[in-house]
Amino acid sequence: LGGSISRAIQQMSNATIIDEKVLNECLNEITRALLQSDVQFKLVRDMQTNIKKIVNLDDLAAGHNKRRIIQQAIFNELCKMLDPGKPSFTLKKGKPSVIMFVGLQGSGKTTTCTKYAFYHQKKGWKPALVCADTFRAGAFDQLKQNATKAKIPFYGSYTESDPVRIAVEGVERFKKENCDLIIVDTSGRHKQEAALFEEMRQVSEATKPDLVIFVMDSSIGQAAFDQAQAFKQSISVGAVIVTKMDGHAKGGGALSAVAATKSPVIFIGTGEHMDEFEVFDVKPFVSRLLGMGDWSGFMDKIQEVVPMDQQPELLQKLSEGNFTLRIMYEQFQNILKMGPIGQVFSMLPGFSSELMPKGREKESQAKIKRYMTMMDSMTNEGKQKMLTELDSSNPKIMNESRIMRIARGSGRHVREVMEMLEEYKRLAKIWSKMKGLKIPKKGEMSAL
Ligand code: GDP
Ligand code: MG
Repeated sequence: LGGSISRAIQQMSNATIIDEKVLNECLNEITRALLQSDVQFKLVRDMQTNIKKIVNLDDLAAGHNKRRIIQQAIFNELCKMLDPGKPSFTLKKGKPSVIMFVGLQGSGKTTTCTKYAFYHQKKGWKPALVCADTFRAGAFDQLKQNATKAKIPFYGSYTESDPVRIAVEGVERFKKENCDLIIVDTSGRHKQEAALFEEMRQVSEATKPDLVIFVMDSSIGQAAFDQAQAFKQSISVGAVIVTKMDGHAKGGGALSAVAATKSPVIFIGTGEHMDEFEVFDVKPFVSRLLGMGDWSGFMDKIQEVVPMDQQPELLQKLSEGNFTLRIMYEQFQNILKMGPIGQVFSMLPGFSSELMPKGREKESQAKIKRYMTMMDSMTNEGKQKMLTELDSSNPKIMNESRIMRIARGSGRHVREVMEMLEEYKRLAKIWSKMKGLKIPKKGEMSAL
């Protein structure tokens, strides 16, 4: 008896050692990936400490897939680090909100201001842009050009050199004109310097912004923390936007910006164009940080949830780069059918943050049903059209009379049909990244 107990203890301690080894291996691997993604060293160390507290080695000993358990814990921990625990300021339509953009020169403020305005304009807001950058020659022209392209009212001056004065005048004017989203673009400098922060403080004091957004270039690397902190110390930053996510940088600086400002990331910039702008979605972002690509988390989930016999077809279609209206329709069906499991589907990239915001599931379901009615109305027009449009990844259904017929056929408003098509375009763009993806066989996905 004594022998078997000691053998058991021996086995147990062996198991613990092995699991600790697995844990450390995983942590080292992930530390490397995170440092390469420009996550601040201190944050990586904090994450390691937390993980060691969270992951219970005894549980691991009993667990089947240790690496998977550890990876999931790390993934969750990183998601938590990107969530400062308080939502950013919520805009209210019809009431003027002043939003001030700050960041170093070249970070993408002016571009992002317009993207932000354009995004909200499409959602029914009345935005306006104020150029309070009197530091850089050509700043006003740039904002003017962007604003004109997006048909957004703007204010600025070629002669006035006092940014505070312009900011105040612009905000006053647009309040009178009943704009409900007044965006103040500010100047930056090449370096962090006292004059810049003093100017930001003064503009902020004079315009009393409801929200200050810190704009950060994803490629600044390890400098992110100090930069974000320096801004936070001068003015009360309430949200972060990370730009140039279309480049090589993986955006690890976002973790630093969140830690330094205690504010959430709200959008990411993914290109120079007006519509290359996405609501921040934490899971794909973390996947990218870990070098997993946007898709691996999703692939793991889809293998767990979607019956095996249905997977290859969907994945095959997607890997061919064809996100058709029919696929959108089928995914909507899945979401409605699955009820609570729909939660898993909410991690389909692009489906979660915009289409199905947390806490508004009922509304989202109603919206999805509306979209489906409209798509039903398209198929009613005859088999031929259905084939060319629902199954084309580039449906040419944007012409007016066609949209009107779909609206009539489904008893919905033209605006709603356009909204549904916008939704389709948005998802198609995100899902087009699936193109060329190697489809894994079952069991291949658990390794990082
Ligand atoms: P500002 O000095 O902070 O106002 O920065 P700008 O808005 O003038 O942007 C600086 C440069 O970055 C411009 O050439 C922009 O076109 C570019 N830019 C801004 N955002 C993005 C982005 O998300 N992706 C890419 N590729 N370029 C961007
Ligand atoms: Mg600018």
